Amino acid sequence: MAMQPVVYIVAIVLFVGLGLLLQHERRQARKLVERSRELERLSGELLRASRMKNEFLANVSHELRTPLNAIVGFVDLLREGVYGELSPRQVKPVERIEASANHLRHLVDQILDLAKMAAGRLDVHTEVLDVRPFILDVASEMESLVNEKNLSLTLTMGSALPRIRTDPTHLRQILVNLVGNAIKYTEKGTIIVRTRTISREEGLVLGMPVGLSEIEIRGEVLLLVQVTDSGVGIASADQERIFEEFEQVEAGPRTDSVNRGTGLGLAISRRLARLLGGDMSLVSQWGEGSTFSLWLPINDYDLAVSAKYAANAGQNPAS
Ligand code: ADP
Repeated sequence: MAMQPVVYIVAIVLFVGLGLLLQHERRQARKLVERSRELERLSGELLRASRMKNEFLANVSHELRTPLNAIVGFVDLLREGVYGELSPRQVKPVERIEASANHLRHLVDQILDLAKMAAGRLDVHTEVLDVRPFILDVASEMESLVNEKNLSLTLTMGSALPRIRTDPTHLRQILVNLVGNAIKYTEKGTIIVRTRTISREEGLVLGMPVGLSEIEIRGEVLLLVQVTDSGVGIASADQERIFEEFEQVEAGPRTDSVNRGTGLGLAISRRLARLLGGDMSLVSQWGEGSTFSLWLPINDYDLAVSAKYAANAGQNPAS
């Protein structure tokens, strides 16, 4: 009987404790709701700010292009002697103006591309594309640059390359950038462009970006274009960041407009590759050269068509 008051006291203490706990939980829940509202508001503001930044960049770049084109055009005419022969003292400064204006135009074009991509305003115009002649065409476009540096360019292509459905302008931009970089960062040796089809399993062994195996790609076979150079190579610590905007391993001096680069080419290329449903990867060793790989999806139907053509021609469709 003497236990009863103790039980009451314990029950009251428990009851009050529970009440306090409940109140505390309610307060916490209210705080959480307030905080998530605040986060939602902030993320909305961030999105709006980022949209405004992209629109601003796109507009400014667009406006800058017109006068820049005029500068480049007129300097070209000056250099060609359309307004009279340049004196020997004038040649160098005019060349400097030309290099700087070209550099600036390239930079503005790239910023415009990035801003459009970030704003989701870069269109993809898909066409059916025959891979072999396309690669040959890009390679011949780059030939003069290869010759200027006394390098050699080798193309290796699978025997039955399929047709793919992609945007040829974007694909060309990626490949020109990769081959252009290979030339820029290689002093002697060979640049190899290797194009072939590859199964998803093989791809995983060869370092296909993990994201590609996770997302739904129609078809089990991919197109792989690899650009290998025997140039300066990239240390592993730099291999991820060079795909970010404005990241360069060793930027040249600011006055060296011809060789300086912009640090935007790879960022744009990887975004374009992803826009085309593919991705990019890199294998490199500092001082030993680099291999940049472009992975693109192939439609099952196109694969079947090219296999049929190859069989008719008595070739092995597997490449
Ligand atoms: P850019 O070449 O205009 O500087 P990119 O975005 O194309 O810009 O490349 C970023 C950086 O990655 C380059 O500055 C360079 O340091 C490095 N890089 C790119 N391609 C190669 C390559 N093939 N070999 C060595 N380094 C490279």
